[in-house]
Amino acid sequence: MENQIIYLDNNATTPMAEEVVAAIADANALFGNASSMHSYGREAAYAVEQARARVAELIECDPEEIVFTSGASEANNTVFSIFRDIIDLGSKRNRIVTTTIEHPSIVETVKFLRSRGYAIDEVPVDRTGMVSLDVLATYLGEDVALVSVMTGNNEIGTIQPIAEIAKMAHAVGAFMHTDATQAIGKIPVTMKSWGVDYLSLSGHKFYGPKGIGVLAARKKAPFEAFVHGGHQEGGKRAGTYNTPSIVGLGVASEIAMRDLESEHARLWHLREMLRIGLEERIPNIVVNGNQDHCLPGTLDISFPSAEGESILLYLDMEGIMVSTGSACASGSLEPSYVLLASGVDIELAHGSIRFSFGRYNTEEEVLYVLEKMPPIIKRLRGMSTR
Ligand code: PMP
Repeated sequence: MENQIIYLDNNATTPMAEEVVAAIADANALFGNASSMHSYGREAAYAVEQARARVAELIECDPEEIVFTSGASEANNTVFSIFRDIIDLGSKRNRIVTTTIEHPSIVETVKFLRSRGYAIDEVPVDRTGMVSLDVLATYLGEDVALVSVMTGNNEIGTIQPIAEIAKMAHAVGAFMHTDATQAIGKIPVTMKSWGVDYLSLSGHKFYGPKGIGVLAARKKAPFEAFVHGGHQEGGKRAGTYNTPSIVGLGVASEIAMRDLESEHARLWHLREMLRIGLEERIPNIVVNGNQDHCLPGTLDISFPSAEGESILLYLDMEGIMVSTGSACASGSLEPSYVLLASGVDIELAHGSIRFSFGRYNTEEEVLYVLEKMPPIIKRLRGMSTR
């Protein structure tokens, strides 16, 4: 195993699957503008529509409900922008309800909209990162326009009861959005059965290309373009079709559907192997998130008296790539806001590491990590002045 790279940061991004790379290479030849009426245009449009059908099958909605975007950040921003418009137009429903542990593409949008005077509530979560339905109920009323709750958290993996939350949102007449970016390919994701009105996803989190994602919106759900321009996507999102990436996303969707059950079991096995092994070898560690409702490949652990960033750098020297709690704010030494919002003590939040597994990880790699971790933590704890 020496000199090998062990990539355990699959929640940050995944490598493209071989089939995706091959499909993109073929699709690069389809250079026609998918909106053109000539044969080159129609060829590209056919490939785009085929991919749309695959994504729709993956998340159980109609192909016409799929809108391709540049990723999940744009999809999330679009949803909030739609409801900002609705509120601006004087709707009596003028409040948005979300949670304290959403991805920064929602957290920062909330901060921005609040600074402009919009009423947005962030429902707190418990120590495991779960939204309590009883607590959520106290935030819901006839003035709520939108409820937005992520399916699975990118840092700690906690999975929310989306179907129940959608039911509660609908009971007060609000629309329901879920950011399912981290859940795709790991747990069954279904717009139809969950009853959600909007769903965001991103290609690069499930072996597809970067810079491509989807906002799916049910036909009855309000929609206003976030990017104005040409008539692509029925006027819902302008911009010449990124045919190769869309094709890649379609193939990634097909793989995600095909391998869902086996990958779920495999990822959970690797995650549990690492968790149990670390608990046996290293005293005084804390597993974050909800162990009963957790994305199968996500393991977030706090190592008291050791800094997360130092652990990350020592692991990197051993060829093991992980992230600290606040992956999306990398470069910053701020403790993870997700852990703090879950009521995790600030010292524990500083010492947290996220291991996230993907389709190319093996048991052998877990054994290697189990060998390398204990001396690193021992050394760092010896150095700690806390
Ligand atoms: N939502 C979640 C839950 C995510 O994990 C990410 C990626 N870190 C995003 C949204 C943003 O996705 P994208 O990179 O496609 O903008």
